[in-house]
Amino acid sequence: MKYISTRGGIKPINFCEAVRMGLASDGGLIVPESIPDISADIDSWRGLSYREIALKVMSLFIDDIQTEELEQLIQASTEKFTSKKVTPCVDIDDVFVLELFHGPTLAFKDLALQFLGNVFEYILKRDGGELNILGATSGDTGSAAIQGVLNKENINIFIMHPKGRTSPLQAIQMISVLDKNVHNIAINGTFDDCQHLMKSAFNDSEFKAKHSLGAINSVNWARILAQIVYYVNSSLNQTDAKNQKVNFSVPTGNFGDIFAGFIAKKMGCPIDKLLLATNENNILAKFFNTGVYEKGNVVHTISPSMDIQVASNFERYLYYYLGEDSKTLNSAMDSFTNKGRFVCKLKGDSGIDPQFIAGSADTESTLKMIKETWDRHEYLLDPHTATSLVVAKNHKSPYKTICLATAHPAKFPSAIEDALGKDIATHPSLDALKGLETRCEDLDANINSIKEFVRKKLKP
Ligand SMILES: *Cc1c(COP(=O)(O)O)cnc(C)c1O
Repeated sequence: MKYISTRGGIKPINFCEAVRMGLASDGGLIVPESIPDISADIDSWRGLSYREIALKVMSLFIDDIQTEELEQLIQASTEKFTSKKVTPCVDIDDVFVLELFHGPTLAFKDLALQFLGNVFEYILKRDGGELNILGATSGDTGSAAIQGVLNKENINIFIMHPKGRTSPLQAIQMISVLDKNVHNIAINGTFDDCQHLMKSAFNDSEFKAKHSLGAINSVNWARILAQIVYYVNSSLNQTDAKNQKVNFSVPTGNFGDIFAGFIAKKMGCPIDKLLLATNENNILAKFFNTGVYEKGNVVHTISPSMDIQVASNFERYLYYYLGEDSKTLNSAMDSFTNKGRFVCKLKGDSGIDPQFIAGSADTESTLKMIKETWDRHEYLLDPHTATSLVVAKNHKSPYKTICLATAHPAKFPSAIEDALGKDIATHPSLDALKGLETRCEDLDANINSIKEFVRKKLKP
């Protein structure tokens, strides 16, 4: 499989080059040249384990890593999950809940970042060189990225977070990691400041090249690929006949997770609808319902990992929506950059695309869903996951819906307290963080201080 850019400006490259490139060098997003069709084989995959399915799926998209090595990468990327099934699925009457939070940081980002960390290490061992990751986080991504590259040779990671503005739990998940290749930086400023600093560092091409700077953000194709696996696995596990299907309901922020579901459906998995759930930041839900894609202001909610207006992976979907035509895509993106909006035509009553059903869940309905689910089933939802149940329950379908549980509820204790009047969400790995030694550098939101710190730490 070769990879190209949505903007049409790069020559076809292999998987490992696509991983190293991250964002395409023409400013677009990297996509596979074609989408493999698995509909003829899929019935023979039923009953395979998570890792066996992962090998089948990933082999279709990777031809520059040998099978045995890919098998080892998959093993290493799933062995820190505390569930034998990796992503177990729980039946709570009218919906299934797919638990994606059994990894080291208790959020679904572990599935993608454990794999990405191992692939990076593999590529550096094979082709030489080093990688120094610089990232910005508002909470969840930072700790998952740190765990993804822990103890990896030739990789250092620098993660900036806004000082005092992540939850205390999220901060300690990051700064209690004392390994010498991990550098946490608390910025005196906001998350936007952190992102701005990261962009400034990457825009200095001399600094970037000299220090082999790399990114781990959600546009990396390896992250999408790792996520396609659980759609294939769970859609097979939860159906038993060829003409039976499931829907997926997905708490959505940067559109990476649901885009993986879109690819799984295109590949021929038994998926009927993709339900896109947002919180009050509903630019994507508006687009699918009205055809208007228009930027608004970010609202802070109880599901902070979905507090995003412009979704970085959305360009991938648009590329397919516009018939894989880079020219049309370029003009849509230009219009969005210049006017802050663009408009697509509706298809009758089914919105923009009959494959998607989009809805948004406000704070009140999200809290109500957490409480109802606890009262009826003694099952505790985190606030992100709860948005997907709100949207699933509003959708009438002959098929059952799999709601993606993207974080463990114990990561968001104050939302649980708001919903139930008491905080009953706990997890032993979070309890174990209390009182741990921490290490973190406090810096002002000044690009020269950041560069100086990186230089100092990378000096042999
Ligand atoms: C990142 C995240 C999301 C959003 O996923 P996208 O791929 O950005 O759409 C949802 N829930 C949680 C808990 C997350 O950490």
